[in-house]
Amino acid sequence: MSISNSSLNIAARGSAITALGESEFDILVIGGGINGVGIALDAASRGLSVALVESGDFASGTSSKSSKLIHGGLRYLEQYDFRLVREALYERELMVTTLSPHLVKPVSFLYPLHEKLIERTYVGAGMALYDALRGFKRALPWHKHLTQKKVSEIAPSLRLDVITGGFQYFDAQVDDARHTMSIARTAAKYGAVITTRTRCEEVIKNGKRVVGAKIRDLISDEVIEVRAKATIMASGVWSDQLHEKFGLKAGYSVRMSKGSHIVVPKSAINSQSGVIIKTDLSVLFIIPWGEQWIVGTTDTDYQESKEEPLASSDDVSYIINQANRVLEPKLRRDQVIGVFAGLRPLVSTDPDSPTTKLSREHVVDSPTPGFVSIAGGKYTTYRVMAEDAVDEAVNHLRRIVPDSTTENLAIIGAEGYSVLINKIPKLATEYGLAEDTIRHLLDRYGSLFDELLAPAKDDSTLLEPLIEGLPYIKAEALYAITHEAALSIDDLLSRRTRIAFEASDSGLSITSYLGELLGKYAGLEKKEIAKSINEYEQIILRQRKNLERAIQIESKVS
Ligand SMILES: Cc1cc2nc3c(=O)[nH]c(=O)nc-3n(C[C@H](O)[C@H](O)[C@H](O)COP(=O)(O)OP(=O)(O)OC[C@H]3O[C@@H](n4cnc5c(N)ncnc54)[C@H](O)[C@@H]3O)c2cc1C
Repeated sequence: MSISNSSLNIAARGSAITALGESEFDILVIGGGINGVGIALDAASRGLSVALVESGDFASGTSSKSSKLIHGGLRYLEQYDFRLVREALYERELMVTTLSPHLVKPVSFLYPLHEKLIERTYVGAGMALYDALRGFKRALPWHKHLTQKKVSEIAPSLRLDVITGGFQYFDAQVDDARHTMSIARTAAKYGAVITTRTRCEEVIKNGKRVVGAKIRDLISDEVIEVRAKATIMASGVWSDQLHEKFGLKAGYSVRMSKGSHIVVPKSAINSQSGVIIKTDLSVLFIIPWGEQWIVGTTDTDYQESKEEPLASSDDVSYIINQANRVLEPKLRRDQVIGVFAGLRPLVSTDPDSPTTKLSREHVVDSPTPGFVSIAGGKYTTYRVMAEDAVDEAVNHLRRIVPDSTTENLAIIGAEGYSVLINKIPKLATEYGLAEDTIRHLLDRYGSLFDELLAPAKDDSTLLEPLIEGLPYIKAEALYAITHEAALSIDDLLSRRTRIAFEASDSGLSITSYLGELLGKYAGLEKKEIAKSINEYEQIILRQRKNLERAIQIESKVS
């Protein structure tokens, strides 16, 4: 198999759209969230011919709105789900060491204790088990017992009147949207035909067998008939509606649960570590995120728009109240810079379904020949889910196909990352950038760093900050369009960068600059640029309304 170019841009999109209609693929993937792109990579790296269609942008569904933790899930221990925890911890170690070390980073958490003996014994046993379950791979440090004094040294913002001591343990974190897009590019590198703004509207059947799908190109509005020996649907919370549309009786259904997060500036909480707090129903995380903290999450049943779940004023209040149980000074609503909410696809299976395999938290179903669907699980275990889905689809190909190879397959940018990290001072001098900026870039692009900075050799303005107060440089916005398939202002501010929730103006001050870049490098016409800016402004306006409501409620209460 030849190695293809992993650049996804408007020209590559044109070729991919042509390819969709030309040949019969082994596998067609519907959905470009983490599971869809993981499936495309798994299948392409087994030597299969693959196409992937995504109706919006990569990760525009749940996969850009998670808590961004790559973790075993400490709380699953309380449910005695040791197998799930072990599997996720194994994946965590793989990502930190081999698959995506430039993107997936260790992060420490403090677990505060409120009582001295029984709680310490109970939680300590859980921590030891959590560390032991990862087996012999040990990329992250072992947990530590902490005295009250040590807790207050690490996190002066934790209230000593209610905290008697604690634990420090390690997990990992990732920019989920960037990671998902990077896997899509890796799949393209191994030959997968990858497109965004392509919506699956119907499956094509030959008798009962699904032999492909009708795909609408949402840019040209044309419908393309894509032929495939097997179609795999990884459409998260859209699964039920698509099964129904395709006339397929699935062996499971998906319930939506909304989870919201708030983002506050680093200065709002004085701590050198993340914090996890047990709540009545689940846990609350205070997660370090560059110059901010992400705090969440909630867990509420949800039936409204799948396209744009919004954090409500109640969500914001709940998160702040829970965090304030342990924080001093307390968080205030007017400190909230940004919010985001995502929908968990929770699967429940039909116990009588002969076609459904429920594996831990995710489900693989094959309701008819030529068609497989997968849903549920967690971000951390995407690679295992992808392997399960492709293994099932292979049964429909009627030929011998190699086993999954993704356990050892580094994603683009990973190779040589550790060498570049050792050269930060040299690179800073070479490019005339601060060492912090070089680290920021390496942690987002890894060894694609040279490719990212190549245009800056002719245009040094690309080395300037993209927006005041955040580490992004202008070259990143350009690269997002020329290599990372960004086609709109929302793609650029909500997913290629996270300016939407990191900047207090959500990036509204730079939309004209980004519009110019989209015009020049993605071929958007003036009218389309104005539309893209307006759509983004409307999204931010809707998010801000709920936030302002939460602030008003507080000012009435206080
Ligand atoms: C609040 C919250 C916090 C979470 N935190 C964590 C965490 O910290 N760690 C962790 O491991 N997991 C976490 N998760 C779980 C994790 O985020 C999800 O399990 C995962 O992102 C689901 O990915 P997916 O690919 O199945 O779905 P999605 O990301 O939703 O992808 C489905 C895609 O299908 C596309 N699509 C829909 N219809 C069509 C169509 N007709 N044609 C083409 N494309 C279509 C959509 O546009 C979408 O992009 C969290 C989830 C939530 C909600």
